[in-house]
Amino acid sequence: MSLLSQKIERSEHKEGDHIYSWRKSAYTHHGIFIGEGKIIHFVNPKKKAGGTGLLAPFRGFSTSGGDGEKTHCSTSFCRLEKVAESGVRLSCIDCFLKKGSLCRYEYQVSRVFLLAKAVGGTCTMAESDPSEEVIHRATYLHENGYGKYDLMNNNCEDFALYCKTGLWSTDKGYQGRSSQANMVHPTSKDKKNNDLRESVIRYATAIPRSFSKREDKDLGLRKDVVKVPVEELSSFCASLK
Ligand SMILES: [Zn+2]
Repeated sequence: MSLLSQKIERSEHKEGDHIYSWRKSAYTHHGIFIGEGKIIHFVNPKKKAGGTGLLAPFRGFSTSGGDGEKTHCSTSFCRLEKVAESGVRLSCIDCFLKKGSLCRYEYQVSRVFLLAKAVGGTCTMAESDPSEEVIHRATYLHENGYGKYDLMNNNCEDFALYCKTGLWSTDKGYQGRSSQANMVHPTSKDKKNNDLRESVIRYATAIPRSFSKREDKDLGLRKDVVKVPVEELSSFCASLK
């Protein structure tokens, strides 16, 4: 595991891996590799403008993973969203990567490793569950839908972190597990736009959270998280309201 880069070759990633890819060198997009070249990932459903309107369950639509651009992928399953408006998609690895490099998110990293990373969205001190459990969670959420996309509280990294760990916060006011989002202080503009790209691009001008704050918010150290079975996630979230 390199401190400088977590880039891996396609031959290196394994089923159940949490992978990510840099977009425009500014932010990372995350997903779970479930095997056979398939990635399950979470996107903002509102970003699918330009689609064909084929939003009914078990039908795909014509936008690419994450930002509404049209693609011409011929893979039969690609960009399939089984539950309308859920934002949980099954994509081929090429469409997921969008020509970006393939990187693996690291689990159970040391405190030193975590804090040495200049940017969030690449690692956590939390422990990953076995790959079968990770794939089960991702597949279940693809089949049944997932929570609402939220820039600071429930983005693509949050989705992958939940699939890997099963951890969810009992704090109804603050869920955010994404270390990428935790790097910056949200502004009212971010919340209004609900667009991670714009916010993360602001890294250069934002005041980064202090290292200690980042550490406090790491999923591996948070005291307010519990294991929630994926079949109970929906009712658990409803009970927090
Ligand atoms: Zn594709």
